[in-house]
Amino acid sequence: MIKAVYFDLDDTLYDQLQPFRLAVENTGLIGHAIGSLHIEDLYKSIRRHSDLLWVKHVNGEMTLEELRIKRTTSAFSDIGIEVSAEAAALLQWNYELEQSRLTLREGVQELFEQLQASGIGIGLITNGPVEHQMKKIIALELLKWVAEPNAYISDGIGIAKPDPDVFHFVRKNVALRPEQLVYVGDAWHNDIAPSFQAGWTPIWLNTRQQQPNKKDGFVKYLECGSIEEVMPLLRKLNERETGCLL
Ligand SMILES: [Mg+2]
Repeated sequence: MIKAVYFDLDDTLYDQLQPFRLAVENTGLIGHAIGSLHIEDLYKSIRRHSDLLWVKHVNGEMTLEELRIKRTTSAFSDIGIEVSAEAAALLQWNYELEQSRLTLREGVQELFEQLQASGIGIGLITNGPVEHQMKKIIALELLKWVAEPNAYISDGIGIAKPDPDVFHFVRKNVALRPEQLVYVGDAWHNDIAPSFQAGWTPIWLNTRQQQPNKKDGFVKYLECGSIEEVMPLLRKLNERETGCLL
């Protein structure tokens, strides 16, 4: 029997693109960029530039504020649009504002209510700084369903996904067997492969039709395209009386 379901936070319980999409609109950047602009590609491009610039920030060559401006001007420049530093700073401001009023993905609240009614525990396992992740947890009002000790944040526990030890750590804390635990996440590398390696049953919320990593052919998992499909998958697992997919 499944006793607890843990969830990834970013891009699983809320759509990470939504605050960014609204921020681009509210900054007025979508007006002259529309057509050549695919919001998801732009978002990925900003993330890529952010990763590249991160080294400079860590080495003290660039402040975080400068990094946030540079990653945006560079990503727009890649698609042939020149954006001023002021517009990039405004986009960042709008992005932070939208992040402070995040909303849960469709179906999450209903799923949590069903889990609670079925006596199945609910928890979170998320990567990132404690304060930053906690802000989002509070904005999404997740503490209505998740008891704070069941919200595991990587910086708080000193281990981060994709290290499977994160899942061992949580399992020991909740005193359950791996086959009683399910993990729902959007990222193959960080969520699905390591939770399987730790003996949990992974459910891949694959809303953007991604492919599993070819190296991980041994990983067994369930897959869905929306949160609404999670409960039926859990019921099927419970019919088999074990979450173990082997
Ligand atoms: Mg995620």
